[in-house]
Amino acid sequence: MYKISVAGTGYVGLVAGVCFAEVGHHVTCVDIDQQKINMLKQGISPIYETGLEKMMQKNSALGRLDFTTDFIQAYKDADAVFIGVGTPEQPDGSANLSYIATVARQIAETIEKDCLVVVKSTVPVGTNDKVEQFIKDFIINDVKVEVASNPEFLAQGTAVRDTLEAARIIIGTDSIWAKEMLMKIYEPFNLPIVSVSRRSAEMIKYASNDFLALKISYMNDIANLCELVGADIQDVARGMSFDERIGSKFLSAGIGYGGSCFPKDTKALDYMARQNGYELRTIRSAIMVNNDQKTILYRKASNRLITFDGLKVAVLGLTFKPETDDLREAPSLANVPLLLERGARVYAYDPVGSDNFRQKYPESEYKIKYVKKPEEALSDANVSFIFTEWDEIKAIKPEDYKNLMRTPLVFDGRNIYGIESMRNAGVEYYSIGRQAVV
Ligand code: NAD
Repeated sequence: MYKISVAGTGYVGLVAGVCFAEVGHHVTCVDIDQQKINMLKQGISPIYETGLEKMMQKNSALGRLDFTTDFIQAYKDADAVFIGVGTPEQPDGSANLSYIATVARQIAETIEKDCLVVVKSTVPVGTNDKVEQFIKDFIINDVKVEVASNPEFLAQGTAVRDTLEAARIIIGTDSIWAKEMLMKIYEPFNLPIVSVSRRSAEMIKYASNDFLALKISYMNDIANLCELVGADIQDVARGMSFDERIGSKFLSAGIGYGGSCFPKDTKALDYMARQNGYELRTIRSAIMVNNDQKTILYRKASNRLITFDGLKVAVLGLTFKPETDDLREAPSLANVPLLLERGARVYAYDPVGSDNFRQKYPESEYKIKYVKKPEEALSDANVSFIFTEWDEIKAIKPEDYKNLMRTPLVFDGRNIYGIESMRNAGVEYYSIGRQAVV
């Protein structure tokens, strides 16, 4: 078993660290955020991920998992350092590599034995080459260091399962030493391993994520056309899903993709293409469709209503998808400010996302209330928006809208309800790519 350090205790770093410990490695997770480390030391996960906290507590108790801000102690005698820090979007769409550079420098100045550096963060093609050179430029001790790419494919909400049961592990390196060590690190996971060059590994990550974003935007584009020509996107998707070349996943139309990955990774690949004198028209279209899709319900509602001023608006779901507390690029963040600007009184319900949303939109500064039950949001409301398909929101019955709301007017961005069930309940209902119930 190896002594592994992981830089960054976000969704990627923390889950990787905990899962490496789970299969028997000795893991130290490093973060610059003292508050996060304090929580982790007390056995509290700073992020919401099914099964993570328990697994973390178990491995900490077994002495295989440690948390620290002291990167010197963590890196100096590690066999491998995995980098899982953020690579956020910059205003021009490119990836910000400053966090990666900081960790690279910290590694260069601290390692006292041969070390494999593994970049898990999503980085533009060629970054691993630069990281390796950067470390070699700043290295202090006479030790061997190599950099390999090992992109991460987990989805938030199912991160632990996605790691332990990953469809594949991508190992990107041209070095036999690095490849063998990575194969051994991943051996206990017993998963398919795809071994490629560093640059191909970096590209696999973008090509995979952007393909999924493209699939979502494609379905949203078709959904918008369905509405105009009288077809039903759910029937269309069902019919398409039987074709194995298309596959049955990621065919749901909605109010666009969000989260920390698809939006930034599409823009980063578009930027990469432009930097290389190429226009990636497919991805550019996916980005454009998504930008419009996020506020499509707000536009529908604006056409339907004379004003939002003074209306009680129930917002059901704030996070970018269910089973996560992450709000990054969530459609709610595109819509709620518009509603507030237009004078709406927003009553927001989300099973786990309210605290994070409150930090951006505190009740003291905005006409917004965070409620603990969907019924509180719906009670006497003039209009309701569904932004996230949490189970708690799917459990609301069509007749609840009719019975609780002042006017049962629902704009559903996740196509939760059957058209007929809403019609039967007497709800005025607008969704995505389907006929409206008026
Ligand atoms: P995150 O923002 O949740 O976490 C990053 C962490 O790194 C933060 O806790 C931050 O404090 C810490 N950090 C910053 N500088 C540091 C340093 N010098 N040393 C130690 N820690 C430091 O990020 P994330 O969502 O986990 O994403 C990380 C990377 O993985 C990104 O490149 C992202 O694109 C990629 N990725 C994310 C997901 C996902 O679902 N979130 C999935 C696959 C890949």
